[in-house]
Amino acid sequence: MASLADNLRKIDPYVAGEQPNYPDMIKLNTNENPYPPAPGVLAALEAFDSGVLRLYPSTDASKLRKAIAGYHGVSEKQVFVGVGSDDVLANIFQSCFNSGIPILFPEVTYSFYRVWANLYGISYRLTPMRQDFTIDKKDYIGNENGGVVIANPNAPTSIFMPLEDIRDIVEANSERVVVIDEAYVDFGGESALALLDTHPNLVVVRTFSKSRSLAGLRIGYAVASEQIIATMESVKDCINSYPMNCTAIEVGAASLDDEAYFRGRIEAIVKTRAVLTEGLKKLGFTVMPSSANFVFASHPGIDAGTILSRLRQKHIYVRHFNSEPVKDYLRITVGTDEQVDRLLAALKEITDEI
Ligand SMILES: *Cc1c(COP(=O)(O)O)cnc(C)c1O
Repeated sequence: MASLADNLRKIDPYVAGEQPNYPDMIKLNTNENPYPPAPGVLAALEAFDSGVLRLYPSTDASKLRKAIAGYHGVSEKQVFVGVGSDDVLANIFQSCFNSGIPILFPEVTYSFYRVWANLYGISYRLTPMRQDFTIDKKDYIGNENGGVVIANPNAPTSIFMPLEDIRDIVEANSERVVVIDEAYVDFGGESALALLDTHPNLVVVRTFSKSRSLAGLRIGYAVASEQIIATMESVKDCINSYPMNCTAIEVGAASLDDEAYFRGRIEAIVKTRAVLTEGLKKLGFTVMPSSANFVFASHPGIDAGTILSRLRQKHIYVRHFNSEPVKDYLRITVGTDEQVDRLLAALKEITDEI
């Protein structure tokens, strides 16, 4: 007879970066934004009428979808919102990859993709990286597949793939869904949103967590053809009719209203990214060319795990993925100038000692 354990699912979950909490810590391990969200977000929170908490929220989060649609100049029917882009991507895996043919994504990318594929029983093939961690578009052209997922800029490599290459991939796979996860595109590179009008198989996924400083509110979205979005809505309605809470619906849109604040913070992060990159290179690190709000760096003489634990002793947190081919690298979020100065000073001590 089957035991209780036999009835329970055995699965390896995604492992998120830790959320330590020390007053003096420098937290550069989960690509959070070091700056607060737009002032209008705070105003919207203060104006929020808690009386509505008694009621279920809108099933389709229409107010938030309208705001996002307006921001990008698309129809509300082309926008799907979820509880962070993780929720949106999980929906896409269920909604869009149903052929039984393996889907494709790069060997080095957001590790959640294989977790969802395993969870939902979707077969997949990993495409190899080039030596320099770039993605070869040829792996996605004329290679039979049930769908494609590419993070652009990619994580954790920080490298951006040119929009022409993305377009070639989307065109070569016109009969299946191509997902471009643009969690970091506000920090560099070009968005595939420009291809949407002409490519009904394209899904662009975005998040409020990084560039809009709202990781805690949990808002992500997809922009795609009405056909794909309608399918995603149906799948959502098979799982949870009200995934978006009323605070997120009311407050999220306010972060889209202040373009000047948004651009200003991005500019600051891009500037600090250059300081961090130069500082790391001076200490002997190899640094990938970043289009994101983090850098991917390795030191030829010192093991990445050693650097990680030495930094952690100083309450400085960065991320290390202890597997090939990236185990020599650290992923470091771009913080404020002051945080980056303190990180570089700590790294100087560590590299001097070893
Ligand atoms: C951070 C991240 C996400 C998920 O972000 P949410 O907070 O769930 O919106 C998705 N994809 C990539 C590549 C990311 O780095």
